[in-house]
Amino acid sequence: MHIGDIFEQKKTVISFEVFPPKKDGDIDTIYKTIDELAHLRPDFISVTYGAGGSGSKSTIDIASLIKRKYEIEALAHLTCITSTEEEIKSTLEKLKQNNLYNVLALRGDYPKNYNQRGQARYNYAVDLIEEIKAKGSFCVGAAAYPEGHIECSDVQRDLEYLKQKVNVGADFLITQLFFDNQLFYRFKEKLDRAGIDCKLSAGIMPILSKQQVEKMIYMCGASLPAKVIKLLVKYENNPESLKKWGIEYAAEQAEELVSNGVDGVHIYTMNQPQIARAIVGKLKNLSQAI
Ligand code: FAD
Repeated sequence: MHIGDIFEQKKTVISFEVFPPKKDGDIDTIYKTIDELAHLRPDFISVTYGAGGSGSKSTIDIASLIKRKYEIEALAHLTCITSTEEEIKSTLEKLKQNNLYNVLALRGDYPKNYNQRGQARYNYAVDLIEEIKAKGSFCVGAAAYPEGHIECSDVQRDLEYLKQKVNVGADFLITQLFFDNQLFYRFKEKLDRAGIDCKLSAGIMPILSKQQVEKMIYMCGASLPAKVIKLLVKYENNPESLKKWGIEYAAEQAEELVSNGVDGVHIYTMNQPQIARAIVGKLKNLSQAI
């Protein structure tokens, strides 16, 4: 089923994200993770691409398992900045052969020392979305950034690029993580004002440790509200309490978003089923969800 149709049918779409293991030997671990996640019956599970060195094969293998074994819709991420046209076309063929028709089309981050900006076959996600949509049979998602993409100094311009992605056929959007729901609501208003009419799912990642937050902020530029900073300081020497609080905070974020009628909540599970379990548990009492 196309994920775009799930968004049309459900008031709030709940989805999980997993990443392929970094080493082939760890493949059993991810299968165990998916087994646990599948019990929570999300509307779809997405599988990341490339990050940490995994290629399209592990993404497709895992997405295919999610769909075949658990009959849960799978969303295969696909990045394009380092890909040739043949590589992208071949990956799209493999997706079809595996009955996978939902793709999250991304540019991807530039590799270290990348010196070919503007000269790649696909310089931006919009180029990849166009290519995939030309094939006809795929439903395509794209990334959106409530605080603007880290490389873009002009938030208004970032919004114009987002509009291009929707204009060439993106069927739904999933946001980068954020720690303050007000940022999401303001972003949604900006989309409405800019005439960007597309389903928007809110990406939620719990804080599990101080190091993880530092890394995430550095990578994506997400801001931290004062109450989060205070709790990071409070639990500085108590990692277990910090993790417990971080998951609870993410669950509360999700609960509030769903209560406010968002189109979807996308949980970055970090391959830890207890995160998804805690958040879904919190949403169980809300009639809008699941
Ligand atoms: P784009 O939409 O192409 O935007 C990239 C930058 O270029 C932005 O600054 C934008 O303002 C600018 N831009 C866009 N279009 C134009 C244009 N026409 N002209 C000039 N400038 C333009 N990374 C992975 O490696 N693997 C994953 O699986 C993965 N999954 C992700 C899932 C989600 C939900 C999100 C939010 C991110 C994910 N990422 C993943 C990270 C993503 O690859 C990076 O954020 C990347 O830097 C940008 O990708 P994009 O598709 O948003 O790029």
